[in-house]
Amino acid sequence: MVIDVHAHYLPAELSQRLETLLDRSVAAFSHADDALDRMVAEAEAHGVGLQVLSANPIHPYHPTPARARQAAVAMNNFYASVVSARAERFAAFAALPLPHVEEALAEVARCDDELPLVGFTVGCSVLGQALNDPSFEPLWDELDRRAAVVFVHPGGVFLGTEPSLAGMDAGSLAAITIGSGAEVATAALCAADIARRRPKIRWIFANGGGVLTFLWQRISELAGRRGGEDGPALLATLRTFFYDTSMHEEPASLLLAQDAVGMERVLLGSDAPRCGTEAALRLLENSSFLTATRRGEIAERADALLAPAIARARGRLEGHSVAR
Ligand SMILES: [Zn+2]
Repeated sequence: MVIDVHAHYLPAELSQRLETLLDRSVAAFSHADDALDRMVAEAEAHGVGLQVLSANPIHPYHPTPARARQAAVAMNNFYASVVSARAERFAAFAALPLPHVEEALAEVARCDDELPLVGFTVGCSVLGQALNDPSFEPLWDELDRRAAVVFVHPGGVFLGTEPSLAGMDAGSLAAITIGSGAEVATAALCAADIARRRPKIRWIFANGGGVLTFLWQRISELAGRRGGEDGPALLATLRTFFYDTSMHEEPASLLLAQDAVGMERVLLGSDAPRCGTEAALRLLENSSFLTATRRGEIAERADALLAPAIARARGRLEGHSVAR
């Protein structure tokens, strides 16, 4: 089955509730109520069997634990309801009430044991804390114990860029840099630290890992300077992660991924509804260096990766009802 691991749905019903709970505007990221129907029509027309939803770039991150927890419960119950109603077309990743590890652990258990969700999603950082911040270690231990799938998506934190130096306003800079820059790449480097001692988490990085593959030579030099076991281990660990196709709008960028991490680590992600499944599949078609077999493998790669989680989630659908 062809699976798109990168799709979003944030209708007004949910975004309004999150604005209240999170004390910030999220309306810019909300979608029309019929967005799901349009995604289904496009996916069916192009042979995509399943799309995995998340509210990215919105996460239930709030300095107050109770607020973060309430927002996470609202989001995850909402996606459980969507999946329950349309399990043949959609799966969903659960969000976590970080930076509060105790609350996040409770939500991991609730989502993984009770809700029909197939893994977890996190931002590339959490309210100014890196993913490999020592305070998050119990969370990664638990996700490793559960062999969870973790989808990492950018949130619009711009590392090393300044609007004034770019000669443009912040909105214009965001439009061309979000997800394509250092944010996802550095999150993958953080995850490599986490993953070395927790090999069971299955990581998926949105937007092809940002500039990770573009910077591969420099990262190799960094790994060389680390020496000992750390250097080779860094590159080897980065090659255990999966990277979706959602920022690979040019076939040339897929060539970078092929050289850096290998095409067997690349899987289909569209970023629907911004960029639909038709465009995601067209990228593969336009990549003349890929054989038809390779294209098929990329389109279906998430099937094997997510199959155990999908089976468990569908088992939890039986008689499932969630208050929205
Ligand atoms: Zn996205």
